[in-house]
Amino acid sequence: MTRAVYPGSFDPVTLGHMDIIRRASRVVDELVIGVLINRDKNPLFTVEERVEMLQESVKELKNVSVKTFDGRTVDFARANQAQIIRGLRAITDFEYELQMAQTNRILDPTIDTMFFTTSLRYAYLSSTIVKEVAHYDNTDISKFVNPCVAARLKEKLGS
Ligand code: ADP
Repeated sequence: MTRAVYPGSFDPVTLGHMDIIRRASRVVDELVIGVLINRDKNPLFTVEERVEMLQESVKELKNVSVKTFDGRTVDFARANQAQIIRGLRAITDFEYELQMAQTNRILDPTIDTMFFTTSLRYAYLSSTIVKEVAHYDNTDISKFVNPCVAARLKEKLGS
């Protein structure tokens, strides 16, 4: 039985995240998405809202669940008896991710980090970019996020 956690802020979940979730759910028996509590001091969405959007987005994927966690990713992985999955978009992600993966392996040598490289059509996409463009009411954000997330963004930003 292979289990992995996919940790992140997901503020909000984008189609780039969904691509990683779909692909990862095909290579592990169970995928647990971990929504990090409290790292970003100014998230647009509360943790509860982020979890709800993820749950709605993954409801068709039977081996995927959503949890919240606080503290270190490696502890969250250990508590779930899981390995870690992260996504890589560009070389700019690489340095930090490499450092984190190595640190986590030192903290717990039984936990490995697996990387999924972004699909090219989502290589530019981040939650930050989505929040930037969603401010303008003439933007078609359905290219970036699921419909349930698009609706929440419009509601939140009043755009
Ligand atoms: P964090 O603040 O931990 O980076 P994010 O929610 O921004 O949280 O991202 C969670 C994970 O998803 C990270 O591994 C990130 O690299 C990955 N990710 C985000 N957007 C994309 C994308 N468009 N393509 C591939 N991976 C992505």
